[in-house]
Amino acid sequence: MTALDRPVQFLKGVGPRRAESLQRIGILTARDLLYHVPRRYDDASTIAPVALAQVGMDVTVAGEVRSKGIVPTRSGLRIFQAVIRDDSGLITCAWPGQPWVERLLRKGDRILVTGPVKFFHGRQIQPREHTILSRADATPPTSPGTIFVTYPATEDLPQWILRRLFALNLDRLVSQVARDEYLTPPERRALNLIELSAALGDLHRPPSLDRVGAARRRLAYDELFFLGLMQARVRHQATLERPGIAFVRTNRLIRALHDSLPFRLTAAQARVLREITADMTSPRRMNRLLQGDVGCGKTVVALFAMLLAVEGGYQAALMAPTEILADQHAGAIRELLGGLPVGVEVLRGSVTGRRRDEARARVAGGEARLVVGTHALIQEGVEFDALGLVVVDEQHRFGVRQRMALAERDPRPDTLLMSATPIPRSLAMTMHGELDLSTIDELPPGRRPVTTRLAAPDERAGILREVCRHLDRGRQAYLVYPAIEESERAELLAAEAEFERLGREELAGRALALMHGRMPADEKDRVMRDFQAGRIEVLVATTVVEVGIDVPNATVMVVENAERFGLSQLHQLRGRVGRGAEGGLCVVITGEPASDPPGADPADPAAARLAAFARTTDGFEIASEDLRIRGQGDFFGAEQHGHATELRFADLLKHDDLIRPARERARALIDADPRLADPANAAVRAHLDRRYGERAKLFGVG
Ligand code: ADP
Ligand code: MG
Repeated sequence: MTALDRPVQFLKGVGPRRAESLQRIGILTARDLLYHVPRRYDDASTIAPVALAQVGMDVTVAGEVRSKGIVPTRSGLRIFQAVIRDDSGLITCAWPGQPWVERLLRKGDRILVTGPVKFFHGRQIQPREHTILSRADATPPTSPGTIFVTYPATEDLPQWILRRLFALNLDRLVSQVARDEYLTPPERRALNLIELSAALGDLHRPPSLDRVGAARRRLAYDELFFLGLMQARVRHQATLERPGIAFVRTNRLIRALHDSLPFRLTAAQARVLREITADMTSPRRMNRLLQGDVGCGKTVVALFAMLLAVEGGYQAALMAPTEILADQHAGAIRELLGGLPVGVEVLRGSVTGRRRDEARARVAGGEARLVVGTHALIQEGVEFDALGLVVVDEQHRFGVRQRMALAERDPRPDTLLMSATPIPRSLAMTMHGELDLSTIDELPPGRRPVTTRLAAPDERAGILREVCRHLDRGRQAYLVYPAIEESERAELLAAEAEFERLGREELAGRALALMHGRMPADEKDRVMRDFQAGRIEVLVATTVVEVGIDVPNATVMVVENAERFGLSQLHQLRGRVGRGAEGGLCVVITGEPASDPPGADPADPAAARLAAFARTTDGFEIASEDLRIRGQGDFFGAEQHGHATELRFADLLKHDDLIRPARERARALIDADPRLADPANAAVRAHLDRRYGERAKLFGVG
């Protein structure tokens, strides 16, 4: 226990009442205060002299409150105004409709405000945010040349109080940090990281803005490393703690499949297959994620892995999120197997009664060697004879528990998770640090990329005529909408309304069907099968068509209100066309007025997204762009990845070079000392306990 572990009330300037306020925002110990990180820094380069604030600019200025008051207006709006002064002059700040700010600011306070400069009886700033930097009677004014640090503050813990707490305590706290350091000087040098104590000191009192970057980099590494430790621990438990199966390869089936394959594996397929084979033939249990763009040929790779399991005397199961996909996989597998003597069974939720019992009996009896299915695979009553490998397709569509349900048996089957939604490698390594990663980054040769076109709503008539030309050649089309019913608030073209209208007008006489997420599953299935069989020419749908559906005869897709879709989602949608020999066309229509050409303004995120989408068909490139545009929070948020969402310093783009070393060091450490019991690892252990507390125990570290 060091001074850093002591409760906050022992700090200078903290009485019982302030201690309570600190506790309310999660600051219980001195160390917690040290890790209460500023959310913004300003210095002379970002702060403008008030004399230079021009109407139309967006500025940050710092000055002293000289006078203040509330100004009523004729319309009844009450405006709080304060005049502030710096070395260069005076300016009025106005808070329309926020008279309560009056109570917060005192004459003599030094404040920092950020906002647009408007003209209203002269120049005035209308602050978006304001910060009290110091209070005349409580803190000395900040000297010129320093950096203004802005903390996340609350009503009872205003900025100036936090600043005072740091002014009083920072030096002493930082001097205690040396004991927390777990990186040696050579390790730090290799990664270009500064010392932890320097990082925490600079974070709160940076001598320059550059030093803030260096401080954040150090703390980013810590985050990535400790997250990596937790994941390495999970990985260790999943792959090593109980023995896995070392599959014996006889080549009996694998050779036969190789010989009968109508194509050659791509170099990327061959490479990931070697990675998978190495895992499976070793006693270490496989826990691997196979990433690859739509159409890159994951199914055949999975099939080779499954045959390796079968050769070794085991069964393999492949789980897909929908019945259609399960059937599609079963069909593809049967076709690829040709005459090979391997029993394939499909388990569907919709099959009940005697037929279900018979199917289950073939699985339990071992007659079925490859078992393909939906959630029906993990239902009660499904027994395997000797399950050795579990493959999960579109793994993100399953919950963690569902994904793991089949893997918890004894002996523990190897696991291969598959995803057709590529994410950048840095993100995958951070989000899925507990998994090993295989990537197919190449499409089979001879694919004709889908042509993508951006269009405005007033081009719709021409686009529909083009759709009809595809239909006249016997092809099929998807029309995709973001919403089911027309909403009053946004003028979205809703699938249902458009389905009705198109059937009467532009597409009268065509075989149309509607499909959306609120339809019962069996109805969706029926529509999809009709589309697959060619009985439906045009599928009017919401994003439910997104997942893995393979209809090679569908050659054209029109996406309406495309600005409403994420980049990766659009990419998934586009993957539905161009699956045959003919290539495909994807037209995305944006809801913007026609005068504002889509893709024109790169500052507009929707336009930037669509421009990126039209530029490339490479899923990994699109994913990187998506990460750049949306930021990592969205990715983590969407997939609800527990620990990874807690990254406060690590920026996957900026700190890309730290991700792999952090993960590798974490894995090496856990492999050598799984419970971190070695006294040499005490500092790391203590860090981990503090950072992850009870959860670290849950994972068996500690
Ligand atoms: P996905 O990775 O999206 O699941 P699939 O496994 O469905 O892709 O493969 C898409 C199509 O490409 C299938 O028809 C498959 O038979 C074919 N395919 C797979 N690998 C190759 C290859 N190496 N050369 C040519 N075609 C291939
Ligand atoms: Mg697939």
